[in-house]
Amino acid sequence: MPTFLNLCRYGKWPVLCLLSAILFLNMSRKQYGSQATSHFCRDTIQPYSLTEWEGLEKKISKQREFLNRSSQRSGDLPLEVRILDSVLINLADLRNSPQKYSLFHVGEGSIGEICYFIDSDIVVFNIHTDDVANFIHETTHGGQFQQGEIVFRRVHRTQEMRNDTAKGTGDDFGNELEAYRWQFAFDKESIAKLNNSLRPATKFEELDVPWLLGLQNGPNGIHIYQPDTLSGVAFSPINIYSDIHAMQAVYRKDCYWFTRPDSLAYRLGNDANYLNFLGKYLNKGYAH
Ligand SMILES: [Zn+2]
Repeated sequence: MPTFLNLCRYGKWPVLCLLSAILFLNMSRKQYGSQATSHFCRDTIQPYSLTEWEGLEKKISKQREFLNRSSQRSGDLPLEVRILDSVLINLADLRNSPQKYSLFHVGEGSIGEICYFIDSDIVVFNIHTDDVANFIHETTHGGQFQQGEIVFRRVHRTQEMRNDTAKGTGDDFGNELEAYRWQFAFDKESIAKLNNSLRPATKFEELDVPWLLGLQNGPNGIHIYQPDTLSGVAFSPINIYSDIHAMQAVYRKDCYWFTRPDSLAYRLGNDANYLNFLGKYLNKGYAH
């Protein structure tokens, strides 16, 4: 998994932190598994989204069974089935998370996104209605948030801001390609139909960085993933262990990282202006 490899690059301590976080969550689940009121075992999908969430989950399970049955003659479990297993595990993890999640809908012509509603402390998957592939894509980012791959900037409301949402930071090439591969495993057409100035993708191998950078928001539209901008995509791996040099390198147009008073000791996960899952719930030295 690219996400795990990325963490390994930052040395032993962060990996130990991640492993202890996973162990802690697993232990908590075992310990409180039979208690419906447990902080760690409740369904944290908001009630108004639960029926829709379960319906989408069922469609993924059905497709997984269909692909599995069609492949049984050849013996090996196909990549699509293995990925859909990971998708279902990720969805279960999100449901068992202490973080609250919900589904909202974007209109025709808009692209899906994941964002954080600060006042209500809910992470929202903003998807196209009844679009399973889009649901898979955005919830893959939810899993990345829980692994410390993506954080959300806490933005205080100003006159220009109409609401209290905050978008993700730390979204890098690896994170996006993983989300597209996971949706591709469910529905190849959902990828083939995307507007791309380079070429369409019809195979897993074609979901690469040049393809990602070629994605457009319409025929001859603007490119969706533009490195170097705050709302774009980071061209090198970023996560909660990233230091000031890594942040400055990938967000060159954002003065935020060039004016930090604590730049020598800076780590993204310790930045109080960001919602960071591992720091928020596991208190392993990384702040909310
Ligand atoms: Zn994405």
